[in-house]
Amino acid sequence: ASLSRCEQNEGLNAFITIRQREELLNEARASDKKRREGSSIGALEGIPLSIKDNFCVKGVKTSCASRMLENYTPPYTSTVAERLSQSGAILLGKTNMDEFAMGSTSSTGAFGSVINPHTLNSQQRLSAGGSSGGSACAVATGMSFASIGSDTGGSIRQPAALCGVIGLKPSYGLVSRFGMVAFGSSLDCPGLFTRTVEDTAQVLQVISGHDARDANTTTRQVPNYMEKMRGEGLKGLTIGIPTEYNVKELNNEIRDLWMKGASDLQRAGANVVEISLPNTMHALPSYYVIAPAEAFSNLARYDGLRFGSQSKGSSTEELYSNTRSESFNSEVQRRILLGGFVLSRKSVDSYYLKAQRVRRLVRDDFHDAFSSGVDVILTPTTPTPALPLDNFSSPVEMYVNDVMTIPASLAGLPAISLPVGRSGDGLPLGLQLIGSRLSEDKLFEDPKIVI
Ligand code: GLN
Repeated sequence: ASLSRCEQNEGLNAFITIRQREELLNEARASDKKRREGSSIGALEGIPLSIKDNFCVKGVKTSCASRMLENYTPPYTSTVAERLSQSGAILLGKTNMDEFAMGSTSSTGAFGSVINPHTLNSQQRLSAGGSSGGSACAVATGMSFASIGSDTGGSIRQPAALCGVIGLKPSYGLVSRFGMVAFGSSLDCPGLFTRTVEDTAQVLQVISGHDARDANTTTRQVPNYMEKMRGEGLKGLTIGIPTEYNVKELNNEIRDLWMKGASDLQRAGANVVEISLPNTMHALPSYYVIAPAEAFSNLARYDGLRFGSQSKGSSTEELYSNTRSESFNSEVQRRILLGGFVLSRKSVDSYYLKAQRVRRLVRDDFHDAFSSGVDVILTPTTPTPALPLDNFSSPVEMYVNDVMTIPASLAGLPAISLPVGRSGDGLPLGLQLIGSRLSEDKLFEDPKIVI
């Protein structure tokens, strides 16, 4: 059924690679056989999942939607993919994305744009959001039941909101980055899309926890999320509403939904309070210094010699330069140049180090809120519903879309986007819940509560 949905929805361009049909069906048959014979089965036995094209899977092309890695087939498998396979899941294929996960539209990749499934029949095709738009689209259409994405500054939560599915960015360090192509190493979080909170909890259970191959993963015992979910509801839970998220760019329908969400949660027993996160407005500019600086360093390996496509050149310098000019799109080139600039000797103090200090202030704001008794923070996920694919005329216009998701990324906090409403013209709208570090279980508190 998943494969035929993939065929029906080919026009949405959600996948870059779908694995061979026979191979997939064989895996499915093997899972069925295990069930029939009553042998021990994995937590996700036989369930078709998909994974963003920036996670390595041995023997399967991993392109990051870039010409640079167009022909790259990794000789090893990422921890996330390995844990999914060990739990019996069937990895259908690799989902489409913005090139190297830099973007918010899933339209900057080398293999075409992902189309938002909510707009296929209208004249104007809308963006699925990004950079994990292919994964959001695959889950929204039932091509796969869950999909792994990556979130550096909002790339799971934003497309989840725009496609009407659930998207979780776990705490930094809960899920291993081993085998995920690096963008901004201090921000990169593997995470996932599903259609129910229970599914999020079940898949997260499988992929999270310590991994010796990613030194930043937590050594804490991962809680049993499903067990925690049979919780006591919202009584005694304090939910903070940060006034600084009420920005002028916020669409009115989303602002109304946010207020309605707050009052519904109050009616369900939560204590809803206004809070202040005063440095929120500085988060976006500091992210757009830190993320490019880390990208500059991470992408240095793509020089055409050690890694990636190779262009011609009469000297080594020329070979490097031609390779990078021809194989990276303009957004990736822009980030590399920006990153190099903010790290250069003359600029490092006024840009990079200053951005790091701002990052600390943003983190401290959240810390203060949580230590004053707030359990969870409720905000919109995006300032607007899905926008037309050709909407963005300048990079800064695109960057502004990340204003609601970036603060939690800078602070390394878990955040989930829930599809809780529709705009007047039927487009999905999402709200975001942000928790304190490693408090994912609180975000899933009670699956029966629908706001
Ligand atoms: N849109 C943000 C950026 O372009 C975030 C991307 C991401 O989370 N991978 O950097």
